[in-house]
Amino acid sequence: MTPLEDAQEFVLRSCPPKAPDVVDRGAAGGLVLAEPVVSGEIVPPFDNTAVDGYAVRSEDVASAADQPVDLIVIGEIAAGAAPDRPVGPGEVVRIMTGAPMPEGADAVVMVEDSERLGIDDDGIERVRLSATVPRGGAVRGAGDDVKIGDELFPAGTQITPAIEAVLASVNAQTVTVFPRLRVAVLSTGDELIDDGSPLELGQIRESNRTMLAALLAESGCDVVDLGVVRDDEAELERVLRDAALTCDAIVSSGGVSMGDYDVVKAVLGRIADMTWMQMAIKPAKPFAFGTLTRPDNTVVPIFGLPGNPVSSLVSYELMARPALRRMMGHTRLTRMSVVGVADTDFGRSPDGKVHFTRVNGEFGDDGRFHVRPVGAQGSHQLAATALADAMAIIPDGTGLQAGSDVAVLLLHG
Ligand code: AMP
Ligand code: MG
Repeated sequence: MTPLEDAQEFVLRSCPPKAPDVVDRGAAGGLVLAEPVVSGEIVPPFDNTAVDGYAVRSEDVASAADQPVDLIVIGEIAAGAAPDRPVGPGEVVRIMTGAPMPEGADAVVMVEDSERLGIDDDGIERVRLSATVPRGGAVRGAGDDVKIGDELFPAGTQITPAIEAVLASVNAQTVTVFPRLRVAVLSTGDELIDDGSPLELGQIRESNRTMLAALLAESGCDVVDLGVVRDDEAELERVLRDAALTCDAIVSSGGVSMGDYDVVKAVLGRIADMTWMQMAIKPAKPFAFGTLTRPDNTVVPIFGLPGNPVSSLVSYELMARPALRRMMGHTRLTRMSVVGVADTDFGRSPDGKVHFTRVNGEFGDDGRFHVRPVGAQGSHQLAATALADAMAIIPDGTGLQAGSDVAVLLLHG
């Protein structure tokens, strides 16, 4: 049996990052930067007020906290408007959050610390201010978020929604990223029914393809569904060769077990450079990986996941997902892992394999992640695994006792 780490290393070696591409900012969400983003603009672009209130000369309100002062309101600036006259001694301008500071003013008194006194017979409006503000108080200085030439995000950063917003704020129209992968998914097996028709004895509903397509989408890939492939070698070869021409990777489920001799194995064995493995893990022992080389020499990885639904999921998580993430330029390839606490015994017998026991977990009052196995652990019992939060990694041996530390790989996050 192949140790998991060796198999992972072998697969990752054949899955280098795709060549970077320049894409529009609007299409870059979730992708990974291949080059750093350097700002060509400053943010904010001008000194502006952080609050609604009155732009003042701070010396005019130096003692307003003890003795409110009445000042003359010479105008009003809404966000989006530009000041049209400077603020002189004894004068203020009513100003809204985000509006540019008028010349002469150096601070803003919040509207909460003001009282409008109205307009007198000479047409002069006054306001009573009852707070003292320091020079620069409630003013957001030009460039205090981003300056021209700042390296905002290094290569290797995944573009999150907040990063998209920063890119918009500095007017970065395009970014250089590792492109989104197009990944083909298929399932194999003559027992599989996916058209809703009544099942005959021996038939089951196809389900892995649905799961794998969703997992691929969640991993940030575009999915090309090749459907269920039946035992017609010529047809399968055509489908796979076509997929390899337009897709960056292929994920298949089923037909990789030791005893299997099926069409997929025969065809892949012939058209691709495949390695059929027995991994030292449970579930997901059988696994195949290979590459199909296009006429232009582009190498397309093929992940042959086992057909048992839980095995398919675990195999995707441990083998396919890290490799696909590497191709998309991610630097963190695996899910988050933590050292948790076993809330029950995790019994097992020695069998040369590491067990990935699906668990539910929650943080206890002690701040630690407490885990217990989901009810059913069979590799066909996806209903129980579907509700799992994580997988507890139980090394070969006789298991762990309640209260032990246990390594836990989160399934979401
Ligand atoms: P295999 O890996 O092809 O030997 O399949 C192992 C088990 O998984 C068998 O019980 C299959 O019926 C089942 N299986 C294979 N492919 C799928 C699929 N796409 N959806 C649901 N079950 C499957
Ligand atoms: Mg099969």
